[in-house]
Amino acid sequence: MTISIRIHENATGETRTIESEEYGDLAQAHFIWSEGNYGCDCNRFLFFHDFPEGVESPSCDDNLFSVELSCDEGVFYSDGWFLKPRELTFDNVMEALGGREPEWHHSPDCPPVSLSFRGMELGGEAGELLNELKKVERVRFGLAGGKEPDMEKIEEEIGDVILTTALIARQLNIDLAGAVLNKFNKTSKKMGFDTRL
Ligand SMILES: [Mg+2]
Repeated sequence: MTISIRIHENATGETRTIESEEYGDLAQAHFIWSEGNYGCDCNRFLFFHDFPEGVESPSCDDNLFSVELSCDEGVFYSDGWFLKPRELTFDNVMEALGGREPEWHHSPDCPPVSLSFRGMELGGEAGELLNELKKVERVRFGLAGGKEPDMEKIEEEIGDVILTTALIARQLNIDLAGAVLNKFNKTSKKMGFDTRL
């Protein structure tokens, strides 16, 4: 199996991509680069610099390099980088949210989260996004405390809003893709627009 290892040196911004056949499966590659030998900077340094002789590697840490592993089907591991799967569907999102749900609870005996909690969660995340936009608007109005858009933070909050919305849809057994598609098309039709999903 061919695995593409993309390793990025955070300080210099330099990136190397190496194709490797040495892993038996994705799980093995994932383990080696997350918890195994290449999970820390000392060995990542050697790998990145092609195992230089007589050069002392940095101490064991985990923030000098970022690694992304991919196979024919796309990226399957990424640390320190925003992971953009080649294909993301609403079904993937719903499945992952369902799979992760037990991890949020301290014990299996915890009661299921209520819809009102989800509502608060969505309100909180929408507020966090609006707060970022407010800072940008402060610049436009020349108010103290303004700052240039922090795109990374804005992206994060947009992600949170979508994910908490998906959690509500999941709780109500709403088909998220169908809801988005129907609403988009309904609005187009109402407004007399030609674009349809
Ligand atoms: Mg947030």
